[in-house]
Amino acid sequence: MSTHPISRPTPEYVKEELYRRFSRRGLRRQRLRRWVRGLSWVLVVQLLSGTKRIMDMLLAMSGLIILSPLLMVSLVLLASHLIALERRPRVGRWCQTFDEYRFTLPDTTWGRLLKLVRFHRLPVLLNILKGDMSFVGPRPVSPGALSPRERAVRKRYDVRPGLVCLWWIRRRANIDYGTEIEADGEYVETQSVLGDLGIALRAIPAILYGEGVATAPDLVTILNIPIDNVTMAEAIEIIMNLLDSQHGHQICFVNADCANIAYRDEEYLHILRRADYVFADGIGLKLAGKLLGQEIKQNVNGTDLFPRLCQALADTGKSVFLLGARPGIAERVRDWIAQYAPGVRVVGTQHGYFSREEEAAIINRIANSQADLLLVALGAPRQDKWIHRHLHETGVKVAMGVGGLFDFYSGRIPRAPLWMREMGLEWLYRFIQEPRRMWKRYFVGNAVFLFRVIKERFTNSTIRTGEWRETMPR
Ligand code: UDP
Repeated sequence: MSTHPISRPTPEYVKEELYRRFSRRGLRRQRLRRWVRGLSWVLVVQLLSGTKRIMDMLLAMSGLIILSPLLMVSLVLLASHLIALERRPRVGRWCQTFDEYRFTLPDTTWGRLLKLVRFHRLPVLLNILKGDMSFVGPRPVSPGALSPRERAVRKRYDVRPGLVCLWWIRRRANIDYGTEIEADGEYVETQSVLGDLGIALRAIPAILYGEGVATAPDLVTILNIPIDNVTMAEAIEIIMNLLDSQHGHQICFVNADCANIAYRDEEYLHILRRADYVFADGIGLKLAGKLLGQEIKQNVNGTDLFPRLCQALADTGKSVFLLGARPGIAERVRDWIAQYAPGVRVVGTQHGYFSREEEAAIINRIANSQADLLLVALGAPRQDKWIHRHLHETGVKVAMGVGGLFDFYSGRIPRAPLWMREMGLEWLYRFIQEPRRMWKRYFVGNAVFLFRVIKERFTNSTIRTGEWRETMPR
């Protein structure tokens, strides 16, 4: 056995260190260093906000000039008391309060029409010109809404509030998994003029995705598939509770492609309708929910859920079996878990290219491993059919079909960058990676899916014409 010499601090080093930390001169130096660090942060923020301010002023001025005919019209409407100028108290930079301007429009057809084109927000350009607000920045809040007493919150008041922010974009793209404070903190720490431009560009598709959800049904039915309308946090809670139960449960993730497959594959549709939980995956489902007047709360896809689930599983003693993908990939995911959440027990791995003859042995291995959670990455619908057939033989508490998840976490296929996910463009990234395989799925498949949804919306009935019908949703 080799021994490693442990280096002990020399008495001179200890003396020097004590002097540095506790002598009057040392303390003074520390204070000076802290002060210089604080000052440089202020300078960086000032420099950035200076450039940003100029851009904001130029843009707001150009906006006001371009929209001057509209401004004239609004002046006439104001003078004739058809609309009013409303002032909403808001907390701005350095916690100073200001009035945010907007028009109050009448509840008439033309009033509603003007609201639809965001006419009532026109006066906010004055706020930007005055320096109360920016185009990009944290959401302006009412006094008392977000207390600056908390350190994490205080950061958001280092900058001017904005018309659009990261949180707003994430909400609309349904990937608002963190908190608003975290998104604001992330914005303030990483802000740059280019970053702001990126956020402004990402806001364009976000406008199309519409508002976040205030009231949403717990169960949404899209093309005959009952979907559990939950947030990511609720999905994790559901899975963790199921892991404590006595028998096995099947969880499926459904995206537009899955819905298309289920439309022509009765067995798959039947499995989705029988599964214990079905979660909505992707922007296609969000749009479908919108079209059907049944808002989808969040994009609960397996790939985003996985790291959060690993965190929840860590140190609970629950174990995981990874089944699927090419040889060697599941083992790489096991290594990723060991790094990311060392407290998670991975009790077995198996690639997904096995024959029917090998199946019995694999099921035995899973059962003998006594895994609580089984992740099956064989692609849809094969993975969901496999789980449906073998769930009870494996003895696991929860089995989920996770598609290409192992390929992403093993690093075999890189995942779309966050900015693309924020724009709801993960599918475009996948298409660029594998155009030959994906063109039909995305360009034809998504169009067909939305067409079917629109048809369902207008016929207001299930449009599937197959023989099989289930009378009761799960
Ligand atoms: N896969 C597998 N066995 C098979 C076919 C596919 O293990 O017989 C794996 C494949 O290697 C990939 C995963 O299934 O890791 C999901 O593939 P795909 O991207 O087609 O699934 P999707 O995410 O689109 O459902």
